[in-house]
Amino acid sequence: MKNTATHPTAHRTRRLGLIIGTTLAASTLLVGCGDGGDAATPTEETQSTAPLKEIVITGNDQMQFSQNDFKVSPGQQVKVLFKNVGTMPKESMGHNWVLLKDTADTAKFVEDGFASASNDYISPEHEGDVIKHTKILGPGESATVVFTAPTKPGPYDYVCTFPGHFAVGMKGVMTVE
Ligand code: ZN
Repeated sequence: MKNTATHPTAHRTRRLGLIIGTTLAASTLLVGCGDGGDAATPTEETQSTAPLKEIVITGNDQMQFSQNDFKVSPGQQVKVLFKNVGTMPKESMGHNWVLLKDTADTAKFVEDGFASASNDYISPEHEGDVIKHTKILGPGESATVVFTAPTKPGPYDYVCTFPGHFAVGMKGVMTVE
């Protein structure tokens, strides 16, 4: 007698589980479609219609960047070709190009990277300060980086993190305006 009383309940529970599962699956599908549509909508306020800004910067054996400043528009796509035009060995005169967020403490960022030779002289704990960077390049080597400029106007420092180079002036400023 007890068996016949419990069976209907068990059936109802199973059926309810099936209905909930189907409803959840349908909802997930709808949410997925909605997200895709939003992502495809262009954002107008970032001025993403500005043409690609292409910059060529070189570094030499005198520990100098060929360019110590340049300007970009907020949200502009920027392509930087960085080349080490020196002839000295990478181990004693390597160069990189590292663009920092405006919240970074530039001097501390550089100093803390001295111990991270295997990480392009960028301290792992400060990687969050980097907008974009090239690897340390040896003589004749070049690298290209592409990134979206910040939308917030202002100065953004760029540096070479090879020990000693920042201190003698291997640095510059990208201005967003
Ligand atoms: Zn350098």
